[in-house]
Amino acid sequence: MAAGEEGGQAAEPAAVEEPEVAVEEPRSFKDLGVTDVLCEACDQLGWKTPTKIQVEAIPVALQGRDIIGLAETGSGKTGAFALPILQALLDTPQRLFALVLTPTRELAFQISEQFEALGSSIGVHTTTPGRLVDHLENTKGFNLRALKFLVMDEADRILNMDFETEVDKILKVIPRDRKTFLFSATMTKKVQKLQRAALKNPVKCAVSSKYQTVEKLQQYYIFIPSKFKDSYLVYILNELAGNSFMIFCSTCNNTQRTALLLRNLGFTAIPLHGQMSQNKRLGSLNKFKAKARSILLATDVASRGLDIPHVDVVINFDIPTHSKDYIHRVGRTARAGRSGKSITFVTQYDVELFQRIEHLIGKKLPAFPMQEEEVMMLTERVAEAQRFARMELREQGEKKRSRNGDDDDTEEAIGVRNKVAGGKKKKRKAF
Ligand code: AMP
Repeated sequence: MAAGEEGGQAAEPAAVEEPEVAVEEPRSFKDLGVTDVLCEACDQLGWKTPTKIQVEAIPVALQGRDIIGLAETGSGKTGAFALPILQALLDTPQRLFALVLTPTRELAFQISEQFEALGSSIGVHTTTPGRLVDHLENTKGFNLRALKFLVMDEADRILNMDFETEVDKILKVIPRDRKTFLFSATMTKKVQKLQRAALKNPVKCAVSSKYQTVEKLQQYYIFIPSKFKDSYLVYILNELAGNSFMIFCSTCNNTQRTALLLRNLGFTAIPLHGQMSQNKRLGSLNKFKAKARSILLATDVASRGLDIPHVDVVINFDIPTHSKDYIHRVGRTARAGRSGKSITFVTQYDVELFQRIEHLIGKKLPAFPMQEEEVMMLTERVAEAQRFARMELREQGEKKRSRNGDDDDTEEAIGVRNKVAGGKKKKRKAF
């Protein structure tokens, strides 16, 4: 490694400046300094005017400053960092120009799609490798020494997921002389820690400094006994039939169980969680995106950043243990000016967590109106479907065991892998 390239740490603690741009006035991409070919690309994507975070971040990025971007999910964050990077690439074309780190592969794919769409006329290529540190250490000839931009999207999550060691390794092998953009909808103290380590005099671009959820989102809760959760879920899905739903569960196993349960009751439900193979995960997501399935059941692997425009209702079937995950989960609906609903299930065990969420978002939520008698009429059918679901889960587990942990090729397959194969636990963190 050439001298002077080592070490990603800024010498002095980063002072955070606020940008001078007035965010209210509507402006064009051209006004922000975006070059014609990229303005055309925005136009072709139907982006008529820049979003608030784009108005704030793009001019600052084009001046060559580092950025801490704090913006709501669905705010156009990706464009805010992709456009300045593409513009810089136009000025000085080279290979391995920018590195975007994301906490999940789905998000990486989504971001790469936006880069390719914006950069199609200038022939931009993206790639989404996993295990970057592994490549750095073991792939001959692979290095990031010429890198000009580093982006961390969902930056707080990258840290929360114990990626700190990996991030440190990456920071050590990329040039100090680079631009760094940190983007997240929620900002932790850890991000501030990272900011000191990796940023140089960053400008803070925040379109909402408080934790907020979008205005067109109607948020409700239901307070119910834990043992009737499934029946209440079925009741709500019937009540709101015709909508598309994302249902969040806390574990892979419960995600799969609930998906099986709902299918047994005739719903088109599909699971997405960290114990499925990457292909299955993308397959599930694509089926839901293409509206071939109306219900996506997911763990928090899907709570961040994914842009699925048609989600009408988010259900927190299991309440999130980290309040900030609530913001990310409900951010899957009411995107890009549409309206949406969220319903959070609160059982006798969840009251404290729920109060923390209300405190974080700074408002009291109304109860979702329900006819309790109608829910009770469902319990028998639901109990039968639960029995079937349990049987199916067991069978899938046995199938896995006999296949020695190979991927099942049915979409309902899940990894109960951790429970089989002699109880050996995988080290990889699954959501
Ligand atoms: P993001 O917050 O980056 O996940 O973007 C959310 C969605 O907004 C994506 O579908 C983008 O294509 C879209 N988007 C980004 N910028 C704009 C814009 N200026 N006008 C309209 N849509 C946009």
